[in-house]
Amino acid sequence: MLYPGGVAALTGVSLDIEAGELVAIVGPSGSGKSTLLNIIGTLDRPTSGTVRLSGHDVAELSDRRLSALRAREIGFVFQQFHLTNGVSAVENVATGLLYAGVPRRHRRDRALQALARVGLAHRAWHHPQQLSGGERQRVAIARALVNRPSLVLADEPTGALDTATGQTVLALLRRLNADGTTIALITHDRDIAASMPRRIEIRDGRLVRDELAGAHP
Ligand code: ADP
Repeated sequence: MLYPGGVAALTGVSLDIEAGELVAIVGPSGSGKSTLLNIIGTLDRPTSGTVRLSGHDVAELSDRRLSALRAREIGFVFQQFHLTNGVSAVENVATGLLYAGVPRRHRRDRALQALARVGLAHRAWHHPQQLSGGERQRVAIARALVNRPSLVLADEPTGALDTATGQTVLALLRRLNADGTTIALITHDRDIAASMPRRIEIRDGRLVRDELAGAHP
């Protein structure tokens, strides 16, 4: 992946993530982790190489078909939650359905279901500024889940949370994974990474390690 200005953010990365996996992506700041997540998530197209998502070669899809595939298959979670202040949790979650072709009258019900799934049914009408950091991240996860994606991509989902709250969010992600959702998450936290079934390490844009828990190199 070459960015304008000639920064080679990723080089020679070959990676398969199977349905149902829970993968941690680790590496120093600036090593290319977010770039990798954006490419997996089809938000960026690589300068060269192939990305396949659920059997589709992403390069062969028009922007419109790619957006539809992304909306159907992928949920994104970010360190800073990216919620809209001034509107309720349920409305924030419902925005996850805007590009999925779900009729307006069903959006709120689906959003309420997603909030219930993250244990926040009782906060549905609160605004983000009335919620704790952990609750905000759970709202953001509900938004990522509302379209029942097969894959959730999380860029440092616990990075803005204290350890205990981070553990709650992590437990939620694990539960989603146990229910069949594939999850890839970037983390700087060694303990979190060590607790994941698979760890991928990126350095200087290269994949330098790919290890399964319990495997001894
Ligand atoms: P990480 O997530 O590991 O911190 P990134 O994937 O964000 O790393 O960045 C990898 C490299 O690509 C860095 O050198 C960064 O400065 C560069 N980079 C990231 N995004 C852009 C962009 N939009 N334009 C130019 N360079 C970028």
